[in-house]
Order: sequence, then structure tokens, then C-alpha cells
Amino acid sequence: MCAKIFLTAITQPHPVPKFSLVIHIEPQQLFLLNKQCKYCPSCDLIITKKQEIEALMAAAFIQTNPKIIGII
Ligand SMILES: [Zn+2]
Repeated sequence: MCAKIFLTAITQPHPVPKFSLVIHIEPQQLFLLNKQCKYCPSCDLIITKKQEIEALMAAAFIQTNPKIIGII
């Protein structure tokens, strides 16, 4: 799965902040996901595991757009 991930940080007062992730899947599909992620304030980086995001994307697209994950 080829995806560019653009992150919009919406932190909440919680030890593990939740972020709204906007994932662009080429050529023309967006996937929105609210997910708890690690955050490094000194690098201003949101850190998450690719495998976790791909599993959530596959679960969503298997119902709505199976072509995008290579099924059908
Ligand atoms: Zn860092």
C-alpha cells in the first residue's frame, strides 16, 4: 500500500495523545483516522507503527473499497 501520511496534530489532555491522521493513498483516496500516537516534542514528530495503521486501513477498505488493498 502506497500512502503519504500528513499529520494534523490535535492533542488532548491525556498521557498518550490522540491525533487526527489524514492519510493520502495515491492517486485519489483519503483515509481519516483518530489514533493515539507517541509524540516527541523536541523533534515535533508523531510516531506510530506502520503495521497498526495498515491493519486499520485494511479493515476499513475491505468493506468500502477492496480494490485499494489489492482484493478483487
Ligand atoms: Zn525526538
